[in-house]
Amino acid sequence: MDRLIYIIGSGRSGSTVMERVLNSSDRLVGVGEVHALWRLPIDGLMCSCGATVPDCTFWRSALSHAEIDADDLAELAELEASVIRNKFLVRQRYDLGKIARDPGIVRFNALQVRLFDGVRFASGAEIVLDSSKAGPRAWALAASERPPVFLHAYRNARDVIASWRKPKFEPSTNSLMNKPSLGSAALDWIKVEQAARSLARRGQRVSRVNYLDFADAPRPTLHAALEPWFAGLVDSMDWRGERDVAPGAQYHSVLGNPDRFDRGVIQIRPQRVVAQDFSRGEALAIQSVAAVLQRIYR
Ligand SMILES: [Zn+2]
Repeated sequence: MDRLIYIIGSGRSGSTVMERVLNSSDRLVGVGEVHALWRLPIDGLMCSCGATVPDCTFWRSALSHAEIDADDLAELAELEASVIRNKFLVRQRYDLGKIARDPGIVRFNALQVRLFDGVRFASGAEIVLDSSKAGPRAWALAASERPPVFLHAYRNARDVIASWRKPKFEPSTNSLMNKPSLGSAALDWIKVEQAARSLARRGQRVSRVNYLDFADAPRPTLHAALEPWFAGLVDSMDWRGERDVAPGAQYHSVLGNPDRFDRGVIQIRPQRVVAQDFSRGEALAIQSVAAVLQRIYR
């Protein structure tokens, strides 16, 4: 999986816009939060091309080339429930060698290799971008024979938590994206920070991209993060200005934020979190929790 980039990050950290920008290069194919293929019912899953996944020609071609059928997806769902879990990682003491030897992980990664090969075949692109973001999935991929490059989408705790607490509409399921409590938004942020930092300490290739730097100067920021491993990739993206990018000719993301359905020029602009969106009590609570987290994770 050395031709794989995995975005690890908490929700609302800019992973969808980053993926859309990267997908503008014909060397790279972004597939969104690809674990949705087995974590959610595939029939109702909307691909960013506008078709459901079973009707999308790209996914039909990728899955058939990978020889992944409904039974394999069911098996992936089972494996996900047993080995792609923080509990499992704790039992293995976060030892990548031990994790790599677990039969469940071996099987899971074998299916991932096939899946990504299918995606390469269907797209003609050499590099696959998986934006699943979750920490346990990152650990499983890190335990494979050829671990991916991890793009750590970092956004400060206050903005992530505040952004979670604002409602957002999800067209693929035709409902409001669920709004977690302050505590679970904070916990999610911690878990991902912890996972990304631990993987970096274990010598994995982790490039951190701060959302504010990305929004301010996307091209140099991505260049610094990716050029060491994928020379020329950032320059091969379809830049139309300092912060504007023409979308890729094809884009088949299975899950991410609703912007993935947007066909227009990608305009990278900082998403300001406005205090007026919240009651004074909630604004204060977010501020206090975030201050603690930022002190721990500088
Ligand atoms: Zn599609």
